[in-house]
Amino acid sequence: MHILDKCRSFTRAREVIASGYYPYFLPIEGSTDTEAFVGGERKIMIGSNNYLGLTHHPCIVEAAQAAIKRYGSGCTGSRFLNGNMDLHELLETRLAKFMGTEAALVFSTGYQTNLGVIGTLVGRTDKVYLDKLDHASIVDGSRLAYGEVARFKHGDFDGLRRQLEADSAAAGGEIGRMVVVDGVFSMEGDIADLPKLVELCEEFDAILVVDDAHAIGYLGPTGAGTAEYFGLTDRVPLTIGTFSKSFASIGGFVAGPESVIHYLRHHARSLMFSASMPPSAVATVLAALDIVESEPDRRERLWQITHRMMEGFKSLGFDIGPTETPIIPIMVGPMERTFVFWRAVYDAGIFTNPVMPPAVPENSCRLRTSYIATHTDEQLDFVLGVFEKVGKELAVI
Ligand code: PMP
Repeated sequence: MHILDKCRSFTRAREVIASGYYPYFLPIEGSTDTEAFVGGERKIMIGSNNYLGLTHHPCIVEAAQAAIKRYGSGCTGSRFLNGNMDLHELLETRLAKFMGTEAALVFSTGYQTNLGVIGTLVGRTDKVYLDKLDHASIVDGSRLAYGEVARFKHGDFDGLRRQLEADSAAAGGEIGRMVVVDGVFSMEGDIADLPKLVELCEEFDAILVVDDAHAIGYLGPTGAGTAEYFGLTDRVPLTIGTFSKSFASIGGFVAGPESVIHYLRHHARSLMFSASMPPSAVATVLAALDIVESEPDRRERLWQITHRMMEGFKSLGFDIGPTETPIIPIMVGPMERTFVFWRAVYDAGIFTNPVMPPAVPENSCRLRTSYIATHTDEQLDFVLGVFEKVGKELAVI
């Protein structure tokens, strides 16, 4: 068997491309905060993570341009060596204050943050417990770690308790534990039940890590995420965030106790052996943070849009699952019907994302829709109108 045989025999994607229903890697030729231009056509964007609509904000674009002028286009090295700017440190100070923690550490992506935090902290004698719907980067960080990995059914804290109890009995208290969950689950839009999880982790002396990629910026009174939403900021030891969603850029961070951040600065391989966030990205995030802190109206508008769309889809008869956030999945079911649904709404002028196995179970395929604080009512009415028409034609509603 040749190592490349798997590549030559991989025909599934080519078959979908040939059928004309291939929805991935679409080349976007230009964009506004709420629209994408693809194939010369304008599409309303309901497939992004640009929750606050900041990607084209003039202050942010100007901040990025000014940073390129002053620092150049890239850092050409890791934070550890030649790639550390005063801007990275300023951002860390600002983030710690925003998150209400002692310290914060900035990585080049959210993905690398999970690799760095979980991969570094979970040592040989430790064990990490993951919700089955945790993001792929959490799974990959756990695979990199030397410790054991266990998974529990989505939100099943009784199951998690049983595992924690059994492991305590077997290890005689010698085992270090970490529990990692998404704050807002990226494909379902539901919020992790942190009040229960915090209690459980404290009872078993497990470190709770919340990946708040889809929450920071809009969830909680000041946008500081899931812990703030539940009033539990002081009881969630480590929070991970990304800048690729509400913060309209790229990069990631972990916020928590100073001793942990100091340790990660000197041990996290995805930080030490990869070039740092470029100047334009750091400046973008700083400017976005200014807006998050000074414009609560954006959060309010996003929640207003979210409730309007949830009600709109539900009253049309769509199944939107257990969502509580601007991530609103439209359950379609079988894979073929989901591709056809995607294509019909795309042709009608809407950009959205079909989600297929293995990301979701067979027959639970869906269109993942998500909303932006700067969507207009006209755009939203148009979306609901198209979904109603296509939903009826395809007997989804
Ligand atoms: N965690 C979660 C829950 C995510 O959804 C994502 C991105 N989809 C990441 C981490 C990775 O973030 P980034 O895009 O910054 O690598």
